[in-house]
Amino acid sequence: APGEESPAATVLLGRYELGDLLGRGASAKVYRARDLLTGHSVAIKSFPNPRAGAEEGRRPVAIEREAAILRRLRHRHVVRLHEILATRKKVHFVLDLAAGGELFSLVDASGRMTEDLTRHYFRQLISAVRYCHARGVFHRDIKPENLLLDEAGELKVADFGLGAVADDGNLRHTLCGTPAYVAPEILSRRGYDPAKVDIWSCGVVLFVLAAGYLPFNDASLVNMYRKIYAGRFRCPSWFSPSLRDLLRRVLDPNPDARIDADDIVGHPWFCHGAGDEELAR
Ligand code: ADP
Ligand code: MG
Repeated sequence: APGEESPAATVLLGRYELGDLLGRGASAKVYRARDLLTGHSVAIKSFPNPRAGAEEGRRPVAIEREAAILRRLRHRHVVRLHEILATRKKVHFVLDLAAGGELFSLVDASGRMTEDLTRHYFRQLISAVRYCHARGVFHRDIKPENLLLDEAGELKVADFGLGAVADDGNLRHTLCGTPAYVAPEILSRRGYDPAKVDIWSCGVVLFVLAAGYLPFNDASLVNMYRKIYAGRFRCPSWFSPSLRDLLRRVLDPNPDARIDADDIVGHPWFCHGAGDEELAR
């Protein structure tokens, strides 16, 4: 009947049939949906439409920035944007569905992955990050919740909501990220290189996947920031010497001395056991 609207029966623009809620972040809800035109499943990230005067939620420029960034990216390991639909109350991004859920779903009972599996996904992450940086895009919020898997088990970097492009004037000064993954130079507020900041958070992800816990953590946020600032962390006993060496270089609190993406790709731990084709990807 007109006026009745159960969320399960919602069809956007006569084409996308909304299904289950897949996840939610600070600003958006993400639903599984079916594209009635192609029969394919997609993901729909819905924001309250700021033009409808919604109090909560993101400002129009922030939604437009995320859209502009996603439109610029086309890579095997980055979630792809198909189109944007605006209704009176909502703005919807139609995205590739990452049907495998969050990367974290693959950890074992102790909350971690083997070093080989960690390497497998870390390579895919670095491949996406190098591509984004080469396109002048910086993610600035790399963390496990934003790393998803498609149905084939391939990693997809998602959520460019804090992303920035190289020509953005505030690029080097905006305070952003998630405390445990934030680079020390962001905390010092003297301006930063966004590429180095992404590399740092990739290092935190690397540690978390292989360890099952965060490298820098404390019940007190101030103490956690102290540890980050000093680059003070300890590797668990099961880490190989080569992984320890890579982590020391990635989680170097001095951004000028920190390893860059190209040198990560050349590091023995990263190359270990890989054929040339896999590394060139
Ligand atoms: P926010 O910008 O509000 O943090 P995200 O883009 O991170 O929103 O999405 C929130 C959550 O929704 C993610 O952590 C993930 O669990 C899920 N999600 C996001 N995009 C997809 C997608 N393309 N496929 C499947 N799940 C997704
Ligand atoms: Mg998110």
